Amino acid sequence: MVKVKIVGSYAEYDCTCGNWLEHWTTNSGQFVTWCCEKECTGTHLVGAHVKLFDKLGEADATYIIPLCKRHHNQDDFLEVDEIYKLVEITSGIHCNPKQLASNG
Ligand SMILES: [Zn+2]
Ligand SMILES: [Zn+2]
Repeated sequence: MVKVKIVGSYAEYDCTCGNWLEHWTTNSGQFVTWCCEKECTGTHLVGAHVKLFDKLGEADATYIIPLCKRHHNQDDFLEVDEIYKLVEITSGIHCNPKQLASNG
């Protein structure tokens, strides 16, 4: 299992995939029907922004992983099955979103 924590918001990157779930699917080459949390079978998925639980610093990589809306709102860490790829947000194969400067 991989321990991750939900971070950040969606608006700060110029991803052109349409949404982050699409971004994950395109760049991971994987397709999921269910939430990637280890015991969850939720199907209302979003591409969640997460960091590895032991690498939560500003400078550490942010990844996308599909999670159900319930887990996406979870403030605590969660465990995802390692068969699912964590797609690093700024180093996709098909799309390389850049972090946009905040306009305040
Ligand atoms: Zn994208
Ligand atoms: Zn879930």
